[in-house]
Amino acid sequence: MQSYDFVVIGGGIVGLSVAWAIMQRNPGVRLAVLEKEDAWARHQTGRNSGVIHSGIYYKPGSLKAKLCREGNRRLVAFCQQHGIKFEICGKVIVATQPSELPLLENLFERGIANGLLVRRLTASQVLELEPHVRCLAGIQVPSTGIVDFVGVSRRLAELIGGDGGELWLGTKALAFRPEGDRTVLETSKGLLSGRWIVNCAGLHSDRVARLAHANPEARIVPFRGEYYELRPERRHLVKNLIYPVPDPQFPFLGVHFTRTIDGSVHAGPNAVLSLKREGYRRTAFNLRDFWETMSYAGFWRLAAKHRREGLREIYRSFSKRAFVRSLQNLIPEITEHDLVAGEAGVRAQALRPDGGLVDDFLIVRGSSTIHVCNAPSPAATASLEIGRVVAEQIPCYSAMRS
Ligand SMILES: Cc1cc2nc3c(=O)[nH]c(=O)nc-3n(C[C@H](O)[C@H](O)[C@H](O)COP(=O)(O)OP(=O)(O)OC[C@H]3O[C@@H](n4cnc5c(N)ncnc54)[C@H](O)[C@@H]3O)c2cc1C
Repeated sequence: MQSYDFVVIGGGIVGLSVAWAIMQRNPGVRLAVLEKEDAWARHQTGRNSGVIHSGIYYKPGSLKAKLCREGNRRLVAFCQQHGIKFEICGKVIVATQPSELPLLENLFERGIANGLLVRRLTASQVLELEPHVRCLAGIQVPSTGIVDFVGVSRRLAELIGGDGGELWLGTKALAFRPEGDRTVLETSKGLLSGRWIVNCAGLHSDRVARLAHANPEARIVPFRGEYYELRPERRHLVKNLIYPVPDPQFPFLGVHFTRTIDGSVHAGPNAVLSLKREGYRRTAFNLRDFWETMSYAGFWRLAAKHRREGLREIYRSFSKRAFVRSLQNLIPEITEHDLVAGEAGVRAQALRPDGGLVDDFLIVRGSSTIHVCNAPSPAATASLEIGRVVAEQIPCYSAMRS
């Protein structure tokens, strides 16, 4: 049986950042990363909007606000150092209805409270940046950018491997068994053991936590985010990143336009309940995933509270016309013909038994395990900082050895 000081479960950008941070803090450590797929970043990390967020939306003082702002800075430095494609192009957030103006102002204030550079824009100043947008007013956030998150993940894996970490692709963690001061992990490739196990299993993080007998007090409910893509001849309608004012209760609702680092332009994502945790098509279904959601009181409490928003998202998922109408609030000249269906992603959103969405990142520490139980957006932006925070919760390697 192979034995390690640290075993990290999950080869998305969070697991790889955590593994790299542990290795940086503890040179010479024996560490393994387990990933059930045959390649890195196949789930949330490889199926998102590719935006380096600024941190404007998050409650001042929250982990999201702190780790996103600093994560943005570190991610940019990492990309510069390792030759990974990125661009700090800035974004605009626009109010298209009078009722959104106070919310836009609140967002501006929040940006300032979060220590960001933000600029108020009149409608004509928005037009200078995004000539096809029609709005009443906007704000510009210059520190927002776009990046290749899969490229970042692959580079992290190379760095971990280069420093002596072991990379176990195609290896699923199946069960945990404590044995003295170690934990024995049963995996799809046999047994291995670790002194510390770190769970960064994204859409499966609650299940992995339960395997380790931890109680994350929240369950992952998967929400699919579907995108359309602008036809190449219509990409000129979007210069950079255009967002509506978010509903403070559902910051992830509200479709937007994002130029990606490969030059395409995405419109979306929406947010519909997924009947499969890794279900990227509307018809995707998994009995266990479905049952776990349907038998969870938290889900029904959320559904009862927000039936209207939920139904609207389902309608917009099936009706391209409704999706386009939302986009026309931002760019009136967009038509159904300009858009083709794109890839989808699934968000791992932790939901409390009372039906409340876990708003902040949630990291739960046991005696020899750490579980990253809620790492939705902006966790890709914040990943290097999440890695630092997790690594700092674990005693130093030299202390463990003595
Ligand atoms: C539609 C969408 C748009 C988004 N847009 C952005 C954005 O623009 N900017 C941003 O910062 N964030 C964005 N996010 C959020 C961001 O993608 C996630 O926060 C981030 O990728 C989470 O990374 P992760 O490593 O925790 O999860 P994942 O990337 O999902 O990785 C978890 C990994 O764990 C593996 N795994 C699971 N169970 C096991 C097991 N038992 N054994 C071994 N391996 C296991 C999985 O195969 C997976 O590879 C978006 C998310 C979505 C879905």
